[in-house]
Amino acid sequence: MNIEPRMPYNFADLEPAMSRDTLVFHFLRHQRVCYDRMVALSRGTEFETLALEELVRATERNPAHHTLYRHAAEVWNHDLFWHSMRPRGGGAPSGLMAQHIVSRFGSYERFTREFRDAGSAHFGSGWLWLVWRAGTLEIVTTSNAGTPLVRGDTALLAVDLWEHAYYLDHQNRRAAYVNTFLEELVSWEDANRALASLSAARDLRVPPRVRAAAELPLRRHRQ
Ligand code: MN
Repeated sequence: MNIEPRMPYNFADLEPAMSRDTLVFHFLRHQRVCYDRMVALSRGTEFETLALEELVRATERNPAHHTLYRHAAEVWNHDLFWHSMRPRGGGAPSGLMAQHIVSRFGSYERFTREFRDAGSAHFGSGWLWLVWRAGTLEIVTTSNAGTPLVRGDTALLAVDLWEHAYYLDHQNRRAAYVNTFLEELVSWEDANRALASLSAARDLRVPPRVRAAAELPLRRHRQ
């Protein structure tokens, strides 16, 4: 069965960029509540023994189980969100992520502008993502509990756009919140690790002669 959600840092560790109160309420009153509901709704069903990612995918395809899907997706989305931040985070990435951002967006500054604009343009509750899709980076948003997990994308970065994620710290100023995320909170470590494993999987399928020519930018491939 699924493991209870955990925070990768203490509640006060992201201050002052994200307040302790915001994280306490967010973790205990939102993600934990979703987790408890997910466990209750899946008990005694064919979904009970599935790992979280499989549970999300299986219930998304089944309209009769959409309440379970929404709660499970929110548990998964929040897990990535916690890991998209770190104490004393923020700023441009290094490594593979830096190279792919420049090749896709032209510069890190251009990426941050498009990322902020996408967050501001999204109407209502949802999520802002940086995903790997068909061999390149894309900025996407989803509504409510929507998750890239069921779209064949590999989610690399998640920002919660529900008001509960930022209202205590920024009130209605979503753009200021996304800006703070980029400048003081973002962690690229997991995203770089995920990109590296995608590259490794690709290399396994490429013959040695071709691999020598397959330096960055990565060749396009379908997932
Ligand atoms: Mn949330």
